[in-house]
Amino acid sequence: MNIHEYQGKEVLKSFGVAIQEGIVANTPEEAVEAAKELQKQTGTGWWVVKSQIHAGGRGKGKIAGTEQRGVALAKSLDDVKTISTNILGNVLVTIQTGEAGKKVNKVLIAQDVYYPGESQPKELYMSVLLNRANGRNIIMYSTEGGMDIEEVAHKTPHLIHKEEIDPKVGLQAFQARKIAFNLGMEGKAHKEMVRFVTSLYKAYDSIDASMFEINPVLKTSDNRIIAVDSKVNLDENALYRHPDLEAMRDLSEEDPTEVEAGEHNLNYVKLDGNVGCMVNGAGLAMATMDIIKLSGGEPANFLDVGGTANAQRVEQAFRIILKDPNVKAILVNIFGGIVRCDRVAQGIVDAYQNMGNINVPIIVRLQGTNAEEAKNIIDASGLKVFSAIQLQEAADLVKKVLS
Ligand code: GDP
Ligand code: MN
Repeated sequence: MNIHEYQGKEVLKSFGVAIQEGIVANTPEEAVEAAKELQKQTGTGWWVVKSQIHAGGRGKGKIAGTEQRGVALAKSLDDVKTISTNILGNVLVTIQTGEAGKKVNKVLIAQDVYYPGESQPKELYMSVLLNRANGRNIIMYSTEGGMDIEEVAHKTPHLIHKEEIDPKVGLQAFQARKIAFNLGMEGKAHKEMVRFVTSLYKAYDSIDASMFEINPVLKTSDNRIIAVDSKVNLDENALYRHPDLEAMRDLSEEDPTEVEAGEHNLNYVKLDGNVGCMVNGAGLAMATMDIIKLSGGEPANFLDVGGTANAQRVEQAFRIILKDPNVKAILVNIFGGIVRCDRVAQGIVDAYQNMGNINVPIIVRLQGTNAEEAKNIIDASGLKVFSAIQLQEAADLVKKVLS
């Protein structure tokens, strides 16, 4: 699960990380009020209007059909109003949203932190993430932060440093100092950076995040270190431990079919192909997707119906799969271990008849307890359902019905 920038910053602040302060707004009027309030609180005379969507690249992205950037500097309350009006309710297209873009429902009105002073403000990069190869957290950081970090990673990877954290002892003080040193921090900025890294890591660890990225981390012209952006990825399997974070979920940012599947406890991920899959067990689901690909098809989804493949669940799963207009055939691959195949077969036939309007061919492969009975039920149903016992047989059938 992802959360918005403004929510990530709230989390950071609660862990003592210094942030670019801001107030979120839903309308241009609220945006102006937020800007006034922020002026009172921080003394800022300029503001940044920041689109809140679950995608990065907002600073370079544009509101569809206009020249309005997704993050823009406002030098007056009038600017705040104009920019917010340009953004709110409209679609922002960035390198990460794809061409379709994402509708912006909220803007964050933030204080301007790039004011001039004794030194130039400097954009740095920092993220904490899980290295799945060895199960350890790493802190990635660079002096070359800002909107071109992907290019830095691509063209000059040696400018991106990594610090690995030993899970037994956590982040050590010497590591935080080393990071501050490698980032070229001196004096007060060094001290602040050590604190920043330590608090950021604590936040990442405490909320069970799998990624916490701050880009840019800003060294201000008066040598303070603050988080200007925040991108958080939470481990959904740990969400039950964090009701406060769960409450930050913004369903309007998620795929509606995936949300609906989640409500039925179906583990569904939409993909781009044309063969719908209904499988019990994540491993079997992946194997099924592989065999579809090997037979020349493309899976339209991943769907794990779990252990209780009864008629109701099968029907829910069919409904979810068929919401995708690309689906031209459905492959049901269920292993009957605890659940009996004949029960599942009956469930499929019932669901098919209940729904009435399924007009794509369904290939059913049931293997395990009572597989033969199951095949008989399917074959006797007289429906446009093809049965198979071997997986290869099922894949060949998919190929046949698609060609
Ligand atoms: P992203 O493009 O989605 O990653 O959004 P960011 O929050 O990182 O903002 C994009 C860019 O806006 C930053 O890289 C900065 O260059 C700029 N920006 C952010 N905050 C300020 C600010 O307070 N003042 C000024 N002048 N620019 C800012
Ligand atoms: Mn950013």
